[in-house]
Amino acid sequence: MSRHCAYCLIEIQGDQIKKCAGCMRRAYCSRECQVTDWTSKGQTHKLWCKEQICEEDIDWEIRQTPHKGLGVFAKRDLPKHTRIMVDRGYRTIQETPFAFIDSLVPTNGTLQEKWDTNSFYTPEGGDNLGIRLARVNHECRNNATNKFVPDLNTFILIAIRDIKQDEEINIQYYFYNDFSTSKEIRDARPSIIKPKWEVDCKPDCICLDQNIRDRIQKAHELDASIPSLPLRTEDQIKNALKQVDTLIEMSQELSSGIMPLARTYYDGFQIAITNKKTFPLHKKYIEKYLEACQVVESKHSLAYREALQYLQTPSSHRNHY
Ligand SMILES: [Zn+2]
Ligand SMILES: [Zn+2]
Ligand SMILES: [Zn+2]
Repeated sequence: MSRHCAYCLIEIQGDQIKKCAGCMRRAYCSRECQVTDWTSKGQTHKLWCKEQICEEDIDWEIRQTPHKGLGVFAKRDLPKHTRIMVDRGYRTIQETPFAFIDSLVPTNGTLQEKWDTNSFYTPEGGDNLGIRLARVNHECRNNATNKFVPDLNTFILIAIRDIKQDEEINIQYYFYNDFSTSKEIRDARPSIIKPKWEVDCKPDCICLDQNIRDRIQKAHELDASIPSLPLRTEDQIKNALKQVDTLIEMSQELSSGIMPLARTYYDGFQIAITNKKTFPLHKKYIEKYLEACQVVESKHSLAYREALQYLQTPSSHRNHY
């Protein structure tokens, strides 16, 4: 079986393949690449070696798709919440190794065009390019999602449902169902995804379904109303938590992603701790929030460590509402 070097990405065969002695899974072309990968900012294998992380050519592989150029495919069944990739985020064209950026689409484009097509903007980290992540194609009915973790300088790609062997792994490049974004942003989606990524949704695509779009807008309005709900009495707090629970249900029904859902759990936590009588209710919300942070951002992230602190010492947390 041929492998790809986990650091420089070149294809290697037979006795050229050097494996990490810790996990016996990650492959390298040379000692130099292994050493760099162990400590390099971002993917830092030192952090991930002991964890269940998928590897190229074992758990997933890059191959030709029928219509969209290259794509990433599962080489085995990948259960929901499997961490598929941990990929360093490059912040500028200059910082990205030339061979990496040059290999991306558009094939005959300039480096700037390749950067613009393949980088992701995140509010927490600005523009970032994940070289492996750039191979994952868009699908409105996505089976995976990605999150940039700024403190680790890393993209994490995770399965959001069970993915079968040989299934293509895909993400949404621009969410239609994230209720935390405004209608204006969601409505602008077609004019962004078509020219930028040649995503051309058929009329029966889930992202164009009017009933679903209306439900997302309802969830958005509910989400926007939660921070200003009155929380002076026990009854008012219980009512606010009822609204939170409704939004959680809607979010699950709309598959709005783990992070928008996590923010709602966090809202529930904040609301519950405002009153002594409702205080014990905070636990279920913060536990769910912690779980989401672990899945999407990993135990190494700042978000997870903060969430753990809220769980352990909830009363030290000040309510921002
Ligand atoms: Zn290498
Ligand atoms: Zn290892
Ligand atoms: Zn669509």
